[in-house]
Amino acid sequence: MPDSKLVDPFGRRITYLRLSVTDRCDFRCTYCMSEDMVFAPRAQILTLEELYAVADAFISLGVKRIRVTGGEPLVRKGLTGLLAQLGAREELEDLSITTNGSQLSILAADLKAAGVTRLNVSLDSLRAERFAELTRRDKLAQVLEGIETARRAGFRRIKLNSVIQKGRNDDEVLDLVRFAVEHGLDISFIEEMPLGQVSSHEREITFCSSDEVRERIEAGYTLVRSSHTTGGPSRYWQVAGSETQVGFISPHSNNFCGSCNRVRVTAEGKLVLCLGHDGALDLKSLMRRYPGDSDRLRQALVDALQLKPEKHEFRTDEQVQVVRFMSVTGG
Ligand code: SAM
Ligand code: SF4
Repeated sequence: MPDSKLVDPFGRRITYLRLSVTDRCDFRCTYCMSEDMVFAPRAQILTLEELYAVADAFISLGVKRIRVTGGEPLVRKGLTGLLAQLGAREELEDLSITTNGSQLSILAADLKAAGVTRLNVSLDSLRAERFAELTRRDKLAQVLEGIETARRAGFRRIKLNSVIQKGRNDDEVLDLVRFAVEHGLDISFIEEMPLGQVSSHEREITFCSSDEVRERIEAGYTLVRSSHTTGGPSRYWQVAGSETQVGFISPHSNNFCGSCNRVRVTAEGKLVLCLGHDGALDLKSLMRRYPGDSDRLRQALVDALQLKPEKHEFRTDEQVQVVRFMSVTGG
């Protein structure tokens, strides 16, 4: 049993923090943001010092793994300094980043030097035109170059994240797995979640379940159930004869809440206890009212855990249940 002091009423211990460092992004993925997305004023975003204070409070309460996310984390100025501070914390077993990859060709070596252990890179298409449609930015070549630079920088395992949508990129499932196998990468397929209002597509029509994705993969590859686990929502398979692990993140078709070990902090300093619920605690106000009071911050986290919901309730038949976009919550 991990020795986290963060325990919720259902006995779940929190050992994993997703920390969003910005709500801004250089892409506008259609399932994540609108083209004219309005970002929070800078004063409302946690400073680098505040981000470190939050991470420090979680680490001292027993969090062992931190994933830095956004928005696009690599567009946040000064991020590598914050990462180096976190990378120096011996209590942390894992410091990872989820990125769209656009800045990796410039930053991969710095991230490695700062102590980042793992990278997740989002990639929904290998076709330039389609990539531009899905992300509203013509940057596929830049992302592929970024992945290659990160491989050369010596990251142990790099994982691709692909959101698969029917009629939009479901015909690329096998190509994405082949790309992962040929480049020694892992890959996770994500079911689209109803977060934020989107105008580009009807989510009930584009929804593609993990089971359907797996069937498509099994038309070309043998998948062997893997014992690999991150304690998170992914279920893993190994592509036979390769190093590649294939994961499926299935908020709709698989309820993983019982083993949930994580919470999120948004770039605006809101503690989000469950991705599927709107409730959040405002850590920024607390930190700005009582600057430097780390005991108070820690106590607020311990108390907030009493409010963690038992489970999320996503459904595909309603356009929006949770009004926050993923870029706001931190994916
Ligand atoms: N910008 C970075 C990136 O794209 O990897 C990090 C933040 S992004 C919000 C994190 C992950 O959330 C990405 O893999 C993205 O595909 C996924 N995502 C965003 N909106 C989603 C949604 N509505 N349903 C499922 N996944 C979503
Ligand atoms: Fe940006 Fe990531 Fe959202 Fe795409 S998924 S718009 S890259 S934050």
